[in-house]
Amino acid sequence: MSLMAEDPTHGSPNLAAPPLMAAHALSKTFIVGKTIAPGSGRVLHAVDEVSLDIAQGETLGLVGESGSGKSTLGRCLTRLYDVTAGSLTFEGQEIGKADQRALKPFRRKVQMIFQDPSASLNPRRRVRDMLAEVLTVHKIRQGTGVEARLGELMDLVGLRRAYLDRYPHEFSGGQRQRIGIARALAVEPKLIVADEPVSALDVSVQAQIVNLFSDLRDKLDLTYVFIAHDLAVVRQVSTRVAVMYLGSIVEIGETDALYQHPSHPYTEALLSAIPQPHNRGKRSRILLSGEIPSPLDPPVGCKFNTRCAYATDLCRTVRPKLAQVSPERLVACHYPLFQE
Ligand code: SF4
Repeated sequence: MSLMAEDPTHGSPNLAAPPLMAAHALSKTFIVGKTIAPGSGRVLHAVDEVSLDIAQGETLGLVGESGSGKSTLGRCLTRLYDVTAGSLTFEGQEIGKADQRALKPFRRKVQMIFQDPSASLNPRRRVRDMLAEVLTVHKIRQGTGVEARLGELMDLVGLRRAYLDRYPHEFSGGQRQRIGIARALAVEPKLIVADEPVSALDVSVQAQIVNLFSDLRDKLDLTYVFIAHDLAVVRQVSTRVAVMYLGSIVEIGETDALYQHPSHPYTEALLSAIPQPHNRGKRSRILLSGEIPSPLDPPVGCKFNTRCAYATDLCRTVRPKLAQVSPERLVACHYPLFQE
């Protein structure tokens, strides 16, 4: 399964090459409420048999409500979490079950950027020391090469070189995120998973950081998985978009086509809440009833059936599989809204 699309405004994924990363039936469960009593605890399916290819050079947007499993999937793709079942390959190598030692080269090639960079920046260390440590520990640069690279990293993320001697508290939120990006870039990664990287920032700063992500992708031939709940932000930066609901991908396709013609009722509802710049009018807002159900007790059949205006008896008994509805689109719905 490979659904990469080329869009000059969104970078140019290499369609002919094998995927940079591929997940097949990837699952992550957690046991919650476990006590010392044997057999206690319930299984929470945070990521439920997700299959996905990520092409070199693309930006895959991952969207969904809070609780959809998108952040957990991001942590599985970077192997910050162990994977419960399924396979995960990077550059053709299986890394889903690799131990920490075998993961060492992978850790350098795949980096994660978080919503709050402050949490991972040591308040007592200058930017210079933090970045230099990354460069030397990973043997990226040694000796005089370190200083030169520090300057390059600051240039790349649009910060003055003089700021290398500042401490994290001396920066604004946007600048701190730039430092977080510089630290991720220090190990010269191929893939960056960015988890809500702009959602804590002011709207004006968000646009600058989103533009920085796009510039860096083009300059450094990076590949991104960009996780966000803000669909307008995701549209700006993504080549393709995957929509998650209760741990599963319910729709995946090329960004502009998916935004113009959503095929899954959940995607339609999410998109109805944002303005459509390429349409004359606005879609009428579809209000989803109720909260996202608990992943401890997902609905039988289609997981979305409890909130879907189109649900039938079939939806309440049979879970739809992710199936192709057009050359560039996969949808998990018995009654897709759009197909070619
Ligand atoms: Fe709605 Fe049925 Fe499609 Fe699920 S399968 S999204 S309940 S129409």
